[in-house]
Amino acid sequence: MDNCLFCKIASKKIPASVVYEDEEMLAFKDINPAAPVHLLVIPKVHVATLSDTTAEHTAMLGRLLALAPKLAEEHGCAVVHGPDGPQGGYKTLINSGPNGGQEVYHLHLHVIGGPKPWSGQR
Ligand code: AMP
Ligand code: ZN
Repeated sequence: MDNCLFCKIASKKIPASVVYEDEEMLAFKDINPAAPVHLLVIPKVHVATLSDTTAEHTAMLGRLLALAPKLAEEHGCAVVHGPDGPQGGYKTLINSGPNGGQEVYHLHLHVIGGPKPWSGQR
């Protein structure tokens, strides 16, 4: 998509603070972070919203979601099961459509958290 911000980031036409990349996915830091850790994970292929996915995207969606705990661990907000119960953690979020608060119409997964407690509601 010529006019899509995240397609331009995926194709390196616009710079971003990239934290992970493979053939299919890109993860980068949100430009307006809601918490100490705020990453966006996108498929490189253009899909406008979660509602535009079809059965052929099922495996891609699984791989997208599976990146969240890996990235959270790398950025210090993994869930750790300690003797006193779970510690740490992060929020995963996909906004869909205007009523879902979506601003950029290229499917993306927010990974929001941080080493300190926070109460982001985004
Ligand atoms: P959403 O409301 O789910 O569509 O979220 C879009 C997110 O993209 C927001 O959290 C923005 O801060 C973020 N964003 C917008 N432009 C950029 C950019 N150039 N680089 C990184 N993040 C961006
Ligand atoms: Zn796009």
